[in-house]
Amino acid sequence: MKIQPVKHRTLAETVAGRLAASMIDGNLPPGDQLPPERVLMSQLGVSRATLREALKALEENSLIESRPNVGWFARTIDESNVTQARELAQSAASHSGSPASDEAPTGPIRLPILPEKPIRIPNLQKDRLGTFDFISWWERDKVQNAKVLVVGAGALGNEVIKNLALMGIGNIFVVDFDRIEAANLSRSVLFREADNTRSKAEVAAARAKSINPQVHVQYLNGDVTAQLGLGVIRRMDVVIGCLDNREARLAVNRFCYWMNKPWVDGAIQELLGLVRVFVPGQGACYECTLNETALRDLSLRYSCPLLARQNILLGKVPTTPTIASIIGAMQSQEALKLINGMPVEPGKVIHFNGMVNQMHTTAYVPREDCESHWTFGEVTELPARAERTSLNDMLRIARADLGPEAFIELDQELVISLECPSCHTIEKILRPLSEVTFEAGHCPTCGVLRDSQLTHTITGQEDFLHRTLASVGVPALHILRAQNGIEYRFYELTGDLPEALHFNHFERTEPLKIDRPVKERIRLKGPVELKDAQKSPARGRIRLKDEKKTAAPAQPSGGRIRIREQSRDRLAGRGDPPTSRRRKDSSALKLRPPAQRVKLC
Ligand SMILES: [Zn+2]
Ligand SMILES: [Zn+2]
Repeated sequence: MKIQPVKHRTLAETVAGRLAASMIDGNLPPGDQLPPERVLMSQLGVSRATLREALKALEENSLIESRPNVGWFARTIDESNVTQARELAQSAASHSGSPASDEAPTGPIRLPILPEKPIRIPNLQKDRLGTFDFISWWERDKVQNAKVLVVGAGALGNEVIKNLALMGIGNIFVVDFDRIEAANLSRSVLFREADNTRSKAEVAAARAKSINPQVHVQYLNGDVTAQLGLGVIRRMDVVIGCLDNREARLAVNRFCYWMNKPWVDGAIQELLGLVRVFVPGQGACYECTLNETALRDLSLRYSCPLLARQNILLGKVPTTPTIASIIGAMQSQEALKLINGMPVEPGKVIHFNGMVNQMHTTAYVPREDCESHWTFGEVTELPARAERTSLNDMLRIARADLGPEAFIELDQELVISLECPSCHTIEKILRPLSEVTFEAGHCPTCGVLRDSQLTHTITGQEDFLHRTLASVGVPALHILRAQNGIEYRFYELTGDLPEALHFNHFERTEPLKIDRPVKERIRLKGPVELKDAQKSPARGRIRLKDEKKTAAPAQPSGGRIRIREQSRDRLAGRGDPPTSRRRKDSSALKLRPPAQRVKLC
């Protein structure tokens, strides 16, 4: 790779370019006198010296002329000076874009200057984002209104969050379950020594707000795989993954696919790094990039679920602050391009090798049978909240839409009970897998690792239907899936919206008004009568909805909503207690193999 000198462009040249552009656009007609120097200085936010340098450049290019003791006048743009005018205007408008290397076949695409961008002369003394207006494709409104979710506030996350705040990305949501320790200080620009043991997400969000008080921030001190409602992702423009393990990446990948959102992954180790953009339906997704061994690894780890979780939390990768800067910068930049509607290269990976300073891009092959390629259909917004709604309430709503056969699929396994194989004691647990530690899996009496009875479906037979959604691990503002073996419905707990998504952490003013639920589609007036489900007339009314209707408009492929046949139910009958429920498996949407009773190790 050839390294070429970067041409330095002064502020005066940029100002001259802006003035040339307004002449081309006819805002400064030929023969007109330019405003007095003092006015121009204040409009352009530059010093007298800079302005004079710019005017001199315009004069040298025959674009303006000086009339002694009168002032500067615009000249007619004709064949003699049109080239100079265009070059000046173009260089000013694209001064931040770096010239791409000619050798790279997959390199960035040079964009034409957008003629419709109105000329705005910022006040550089008062407007912190003013210079961005000189970038031809920069759309201030889009950037200021953008909502970006940053998953992970470690070395990469720190760099990404810093960049987003500097660029004035309007709304930044930070999620991380971890706490700050001394070893983070060597690679985390947002953390200080006094922050020891504080939540990474909280500190990173607070520092983003102090870097740029104009941005709105929110943080969640929690695990993205289990504690972030899908409704949050549904309202984001871009998700940036700053993660250090495969399980979390896989979860983010699925959530983004389900919600049809682009996400930017970054990974670093020592001096090596990679960046990749994934857009649902455009090329490979993260799961497509995993080979058979990696996928088998993941499923093996899930055959021992409690231990798998433990291992994820312990995973540590050696990194340097320098590689975190490089890769974090590229991730932020890709996110910025997505926000501005610029072309990106989904399904490809950019490798950076800092040992030899080599960079190359390769494309992944999308896999037809990839389990992640699902996009949710139309989401029904319910005025319900995870803390207040019971499993029974949710089931009634689903049955009103889907008939008496409808059941709910949870996104995470629910540990119903733990049974000791040696002393045969059974302890009722009823907590989500993420809240049961490996240690708690052991028998308190004899110390043996116990078998856990898991489920992820709610069929109506359970003896815990009075429990709230929150108590079985459903996060606030989550979107639940229900199905009847023929079609799916998606229900959002939109009642949680004001608390779960507000972007007003660390604001001194009143809380922001976030959009209220648009539609309320609960049509249920009373409990559904299910005296004789077999003879119920509702049975005959279950119909396969037009799949195009249920598919998201941007993803017209109705084929993504698939129902797994019940014959796929691989539940091993032997040893199952008589209370064991019929399991309607939907493993296609799950990370885990559908074993109801799992030997822990
Ligand atoms: Zn895939
Ligand atoms: Zn025991």
